[in-house]
Amino acid sequence: MRTVGGYLRPFALRVCCGVAVKFTAAVLELTLPLLLAHIINVCVPARDVEAIRRMGGLMMALAFGAAFCNITANRMAAWVSMEVTRRLRRDVYSRVEGLSCAQMDRFSISSLVSRLTNDTYHVHQMFDKIQRGGIRAPMLVLGGLVLTFLQAPALGLVQLVICSLTFCTIALVTRRGIPHYTKAQAAVDDVVRIIRENASGVRVVKALACQGRERTRFERANECARSTEEKAGCVMAAANPMTDFLLNTGLVLVVAVGAVLVNIGKLDPGHIVAFLSYFALIQTATLGMAKIFVKISKGAASARRIEEILLAPADQLVRPSDAVSEAELGMEGVSFSYLGVEKDLDGAEFTLRRGETLGILGPTGSGKTTLVSLLLRLYDAGAGVVWVGGRDAASRSREDLRGRFGVVFQNEALLNDSVYENISFLRGLPREDVIAAAKTAQAWEFIETLPDGLDTRVDIRGANLSGGQRQRLLIARALAAKPGILVLDSADSALDYRTAADLHAAIRRDFPGVTLVVISERIASLREADRILVLEDGKITAQGRHEELLSSSPRYRSMERLQMGGGSV
Ligand code: ADP
Repeated sequence: MRTVGGYLRPFALRVCCGVAVKFTAAVLELTLPLLLAHIINVCVPARDVEAIRRMGGLMMALAFGAAFCNITANRMAAWVSMEVTRRLRRDVYSRVEGLSCAQMDRFSISSLVSRLTNDTYHVHQMFDKIQRGGIRAPMLVLGGLVLTFLQAPALGLVQLVICSLTFCTIALVTRRGIPHYTKAQAAVDDVVRIIRENASGVRVVKALACQGRERTRFERANECARSTEEKAGCVMAAANPMTDFLLNTGLVLVVAVGAVLVNIGKLDPGHIVAFLSYFALIQTATLGMAKIFVKISKGAASARRIEEILLAPADQLVRPSDAVSEAELGMEGVSFSYLGVEKDLDGAEFTLRRGETLGILGPTGSGKTTLVSLLLRLYDAGAGVVWVGGRDAASRSREDLRGRFGVVFQNEALLNDSVYENISFLRGLPREDVIAAAKTAQAWEFIETLPDGLDTRVDIRGANLSGGQRQRLLIARALAAKPGILVLDSADSALDYRTAADLHAAIRRDFPGVTLVVISERIASLREADRILVLEDGKITAQGRHEELLSSSPRYRSMERLQMGGGSV
């Protein structure tokens, strides 16, 4: 894996060419004031109109040449920095895809998104500015100062002092301003987050009549964003006026000191004009340099955040093992903790043969999804063995493992694309398979009534579908690739009892050999299962068939009684 800087290496030649072109432009720009001084000092007093025309023409040619070189070099720089950023973003994206769930939890999804967007943008800006101004600005400053020092050391000193003051002013102001802007950015992020939460949860907000409270919450965040922006603005407000003041002071000093030098015969009047031009060039270049430093400091911080992803060590390596089991799915003494503090799954133990059904029941937060995540090896068990297809799950490659499963998780995303694409899920499945899966998932009857059937577009997050319709599309997606093991995590929570029963019957009819794992709050969805696990606080407190659990598990019994219309939990 390369560091961010390494992405520039393949473009080294192009960058060097661009820098050489910039260098040429800077030389041409530095020559202009000398020619101007020559016109004023020599050609004008001699009234040599022909020479003035010649020199004027030469100046125009040099100015055109400088502009042409700058435009060419800027284009080359823009191309390189865009290409570098494209490759960087591509690699970060594919690395993010390869991160394990534990690594994703550590980074957090929103941070990964901001590293892929904001941070790559800052790196782009850094590379772009370094190429455009990294050589030109220091060259103009150095060249201008050297040329002035050679001809009038006193004026060179004036320029050096003013230029150093300008640089320090910008450096100080931005150093104080940047933390305020970082805070302001975080405050704006908060405002955006609240807007997003309200937009996506708009129905709940309206239904629970919390608009007033939400408005207060929004106003608080908005006010916080305003005050932090104000502080940042107050600090930065000093920057431009102070540099303008220094520029004007410098111009006055150049003229004043130059006039003294002319009076004592140490300088030709034309040179004052040349030095004024140099001074303006130097000041602009100094401001440019200060801005480049700001871009570099932001870009370097972003590069570090990106490198954390690029250089994240490979997790969940395949661990070869000859151990075999008769279980299609199973666990042996499996324990797991997300944060390493308390066990979210503790000593899980069960076996399931091919074609059997496993039911998982338990209150929210009891570890049902965690158990399934370990079967899929989304996380690695802290202790014990997870069996999949008769072998240790850790000894199977990621593709082999995931290829065996069809999964429906809670709150899974729908694509803003056709119904067909949502079921096929970019796997290019034949339409017949998609239709068959939709029929098994009890989705076909409503898909047929949609305006364009399978080609109807699903809105963002499936907003034009009901909860039950969304769930059935997701089930069809899991079935479409004809998996050997099907996991339904609370996949029937938005379905009515009749549809849920039809769904389970259809899966058994159309996928006779499938090994089924069903997480459900409903006993009715689990009673046919070959093995039901009752989970409480990460522990399997009981397991067996429906009838066995009715006699052995008080919790199961009370759940059954409650759902069948009597007793309490
Ligand atoms: P269930 O599916 O039974 O509702 P989960 O398996 O989702 O429960 O969660 C079990 C426990 O693990 C809960 O206490 C939950 O807060 C915790 N948990 C789940 N996912 C994570 C995660 N990504 N990071 C930290 N803790 C988690």
